[in-house]
Amino acid sequence: MSMTQDERQPPHRFVADAMLGRLAKWLRMMGYDVTFFNDADDLALLRHARAEGRLLLTRDRALARRAGSLGVMIHHQTLEAQLKELTARGFIDGPLDETRCPVCNARLQPIAKEDARERVPPYVYQTQDEFYECPQCHRIYWAGTHWQNVTRTWAALGWKEEE
Ligand SMILES: [Zn+2]
Repeated sequence: MSMTQDERQPPHRFVADAMLGRLAKWLRMMGYDVTFFNDADDLALLRHARAEGRLLLTRDRALARRAGSLGVMIHHQTLEAQLKELTARGFIDGPLDETRCPVCNARLQPIAKEDARERVPPYVYQTQDEFYECPQCHRIYWAGTHWQNVTRTWAALGWKEEE
């Protein structure tokens, strides 16, 4: 039985500990709101998670316990196993309808092809039609080889392959 849009829980928001930078980047590309700090200590992470109602993803069992109901201990080492783990435990449900900047977590905005002309390599401009910009760091994204690798991984995990 499928649920209507209104019955769906809003997606969880996360904060990832310093061990989980790669997972944080992938969750952002899947559209999830994930904060990440290289240098925050445990107390700062806990305060941030509580202040913003974020689930704290961590490889540290003691930290997960300290976070109480907001703590999510990640048991697996590899990215794919970690994504499976989060799915099996109901914390994520495949890619969302939007994508966030893997570098800074802001929602990517579509931009006109013409506006990308001066900002991407000529070959990319000639072969791609859809471009996105991060409103925060102003990086330009397009569905290149890297994105194909991402969607291939999603397909391997049983999630829809995006065009
Ligand atoms: Zn960015």
